[in-house]
Amino acid sequence: MSKQDYYEILDVPRDASDRDIKKAYRRLAMKYHPDRNPDNKEAEDKFKEISEAYEVLADAQKRAAYDQFGHAGVDGQGGGFGGGGFGGGGDFSDIFGDVFGDIFGGGGGGGRRRSSVQRGADLRYNLDLNLEEAVRGCEKTLKVPTLVGCEVCDGTGAKPGTSAKTCGTCGGIGQVRMQQGFFSVQQTCPTCRGEGKVISDPCNSCHGQGRVEETKTLQVKIPAGVDTGDRIRLTGEGEAGTHGGPAGDLYVQVNVLQHPIFERDGKHLYCEVPISFVDAALGGELDVPTLDGRVKLKIPAETQTGKLFRLRGKGIAPVRGGSTGDLMVKVTVETPVSLSSRQKELLKEFQDEMDEGKSKHSPKKHGFFDSVKKFFEDMT
Ligand SMILES: [Zn+2]
Ligand SMILES: [Zn+2]
Repeated sequence: MSKQDYYEILDVPRDASDRDIKKAYRRLAMKYHPDRNPDNKEAEDKFKEISEAYEVLADAQKRAAYDQFGHAGVDGQGGGFGGGGFGGGGDFSDIFGDVFGDIFGGGGGGGRRRSSVQRGADLRYNLDLNLEEAVRGCEKTLKVPTLVGCEVCDGTGAKPGTSAKTCGTCGGIGQVRMQQGFFSVQQTCPTCRGEGKVISDPCNSCHGQGRVEETKTLQVKIPAGVDTGDRIRLTGEGEAGTHGGPAGDLYVQVNVLQHPIFERDGKHLYCEVPISFVDAALGGELDVPTLDGRVKLKIPAETQTGKLFRLRGKGIAPVRGGSTGDLMVKVTVETPVSLSSRQKELLKEFQDEMDEGKSKHSPKKHGFFDSVKKFFEDMT
């Protein structure tokens, strides 16, 4: 039997953020959780399926492997769901705790130890690119303030030579039970805040956090053809995890800046080129800008203002492949200004000549005024 796509199972797009994946999993898991669907085999299967999908997509490395190789990339990695199935490994309680910690955590669970190993947060970096950079691709140096693993203590938070000790209050469970009347209430251990361990001799460099703030410098290759809204994921370049957990990812969010000449719509470019009314009337050759330099555009005689000329293949090659877009050149007829008296004279002479055969030279104008005349006649 071929397996269903993990993204489809969780009903999220392929570029969904970790948060969205978590949200989707949470929503579905709430619905199909065995506690809520007793003796329902179908719900149980569904629950296993979504848990398996989540286990892979929530893990940066497994997700990357899955994105690249599909199920083959993550199956049989052991420990998880891929091989052994439901309840197979220690992983399950980790994801379960991670997502459900705050829902099921308080009352019911019963002594499950909350893992203090946590994946680092994902980071977002807003990157402005000019149009040329976005179209051609480029390499950018990003300075990203982030949390990285402390080198002094190797991320443990304990002073070198010492190590964290099991919490005496909760015995390493991270939770304590309190008797309140008839009820026994489970709470996060106040001593270790659920970590299960206490650091008596904290590292001087990170003050026991295991992570330190640092501005990371990253070289990022921006592929050609990116557009506003595109995200580039740099796996493992987010914040460091805690207590040896994996680092989060860094998402570079692309924003393409306005260009003085070109307007972009997906893979097509638009630009407006002004022409004189003489060129418009007689036709001629225009110098038209493209991203690769100037090209000549022949415009026919009797070109009206607003006419679009399409230059095939002079647009943008999309980052996801497919045909290169076009450049649309919109010509606008510019009314001449600052005329000399001689020029005005010539235009008047020209006008007189035009009046001879009104409807022939300006069919649109003629037709328009005919309609206006009819409009007012119909009113009376
Ligand atoms: Zn340290
Ligand atoms: Zn404790």
